[in-house]
Amino acid sequence: MNTYSRLPVTFERGEGAWLWDTRGNKYLDALSGIAVCGLGHAHPAVSAALCAQADRLIHTSNLYGVALQERLADALTEAAGMDRAFFCNSGAESIEAAIKLARLYGHQRQIAQPAIVVAEKSFHGRTLATLSATGNRKVQAGFEPLVQGFIRVPYDDVEALHAVARNSPQVVAVLVEPIQGEGGINIPSDDYLREIRALCDRNGWLMMLDEIQTGMARTGRWFAYQHHHDLYPDVISVAKGLANGVPIGACLARGAAAEVYQPGTHGSTFGGNPLACSAALAVIATIRAERLTERAAALGRRLLDGLHAALDGCELVVEVRGRGLMMGIELARPSTHLPALGLERGILFSVQSEKVIRLLPPLIISDAEADEIVSRVAALVREDAARAA
Ligand SMILES: *Cc1c(COP(=O)(O)O)cnc(C)c1O
Repeated sequence: MNTYSRLPVTFERGEGAWLWDTRGNKYLDALSGIAVCGLGHAHPAVSAALCAQADRLIHTSNLYGVALQERLADALTEAAGMDRAFFCNSGAESIEAAIKLARLYGHQRQIAQPAIVVAEKSFHGRTLATLSATGNRKVQAGFEPLVQGFIRVPYDDVEALHAVARNSPQVVAVLVEPIQGEGGINIPSDDYLREIRALCDRNGWLMMLDEIQTGMARTGRWFAYQHHHDLYPDVISVAKGLANGVPIGACLARGAAAEVYQPGTHGSTFGGNPLACSAALAVIATIRAERLTERAAALGRRLLDGLHAALDGCELVVEVRGRGLMMGIELARPSTHLPALGLERGILFSVQSEKVIRLLPPLIISDAEADEIVSRVAALVREDAARAA
């Protein structure tokens, strides 16, 4: 169905940070399939794991033990500092799992109409519950009636959360992105997550983080919340970069939150099947072996410095910001035409919130490829600034 207005290109092959279209043109991929292909395209460790597992066993269902799912749960909860994992097949499903977990947690505490606090400009997915949680009218319009039970506050506004704590006894959880991705690479104040943790502790709320875009080493840590020392959320949603393009999602939980679901309360036919888990295990092993969290942090600094230098004095640029390999270049005017221009210049990126160029390059790029991203993007922005001036 006609759900996407697609750019006029079709790719047929990829290698690392590069894609080739059906006409043989070559593109530098600074979007990674929207933060999915963190190891780049056709990574040999992922291909080898998938081929070997496809030859052995693809799926049996969750009616039986799944050894690779248990191994993945161990590896993922260790990286995330969590206790238990539920596996599903997408980001939206991992948020659905978090929403249902929070409601069940509320009902177990005799809260009849549990509510979850969510943020403006957030994005949590396209299913009915997750679009209702999303802070973007465009995502919701036409799909009313929305799912009830969400209270919306401005992002990065601790005072608004305090007001909710005073006025809304039915709240059971706060759900936010540690950095808003679709909303335009919005990085909150340094103490935002810590303030949320304190509020959750004081009120018995669950702190739930949507790390679907920020997770899997993207920001220079396994998960973005780990930039804060000694701080742990109760629930984390993971997907996108988890298996380098094989569909999988996970809802991770810690402490009391990890014991909320019991047999029969939630499920998924495909979730955590051996094929998807084999790819995710290969991703985690590669991030560890190649120290890609540290690498993402270093590359992020290189890209930010490079972009600041290359765009210095360009009046079209409002701000260049980012953490690790999650970056935004905010422009002074609507710039939704830029991805098509980038395509002509052989560079892939997206524009969010109409004015923010979003860069999510693979974690495996070389320094030279990082510099090439800087020069291609900066040239494009300067060209566009000159054209309109
Ligand atoms: C992509 C994304 C989702 C939705 O994931 P899907 O796999 O598309 O369902 C939810 N939250 C955030 C922060 C995302 O970036």
